[in-house]
Amino acid sequence: MKIIDAHIHCCSSPYFDQIAEEAAHVNTTEHLRTVFQEEEIVHGIVMGNQTLDLSYHQYPEFLSYCIGLDSSCLNARSLAASIDKVEQHLQRKNCVGIKLYPGYNSQYVFDTAYFPYYELAKTYDKPVAIHTGDTAGTGGLLKYSHPLTIDEVAVAFPQVTFVMCHLGNPWIVDGIAVVDKNENVAADLSGLFEGMVDPKKTQEKSKGYLEHLRTWLGYLDQYDKLLYGTDWPLVNIPNYIDFIKSIIPEAYYEDVFYKNALRVYRPANIS
Ligand SMILES: [Zn+2]
Repeated sequence: MKIIDAHIHCCSSPYFDQIAEEAAHVNTTEHLRTVFQEEEIVHGIVMGNQTLDLSYHQYPEFLSYCIGLDSSCLNARSLAASIDKVEQHLQRKNCVGIKLYPGYNSQYVFDTAYFPYYELAKTYDKPVAIHTGDTAGTGGLLKYSHPLTIDEVAVAFPQVTFVMCHLGNPWIVDGIAVVDKNENVAADLSGLFEGMVDPKKTQEKSKGYLEHLRTWLGYLDQYDKLLYGTDWPLVNIPNYIDFIKSIIPEAYYEDVFYKNALRVYRPANIS
């Protein structure tokens, strides 16, 4: 089965190297390429971090990227100043969207300061991915990353597709409500757990959590709006494929693992 990983990170830092190791991986592009080939993952969508510099965002052909406005390159004052830079990224073929990190930027996604970015997304017909749910470390603020915050921008910008990253985990029910109500909101299923896990033990230990996910995904019953993603290098990839297979009905594997990401991000050179 062909797969697109709709949510990965390519950052070289001791932190990312360590979490890759904990997931039994090595944080290099070459290792990622090998794992992709082994698992039939034909493409990956990088969620950009660290800088808006055009020269930094160079990726091999099996990866596309969303230009990311994270806290290391953006604050309330620099938001307006960065619009031209972001537009230059969106003009590139391998830049397939914008990624926002409101929980780390301490700015709600419905703040009008973001509106020019949504206008850009509309103009270039590329989606806006938004980190929702729990934040890594203790520096972020959860109120900014709650999935309900997407409802307001989804209504204000009906022509823009928004991707709710991590389905708002652990606010799964709230996330589902927003995806259910808004035609233009999809969700990726990355980061629902971290590291390397024993699948059997997880099925036992996290029985309630898995049942909760199955129940609410079933309630939503819109498998054309869910995208497989890992949050690489946070998880072990073969593990994560098995995990997602365990919470999605088999009839929808092709949609969730491949077709939906192809439709939402439209990466070049694959079909
Ligand atoms: Zn991520």
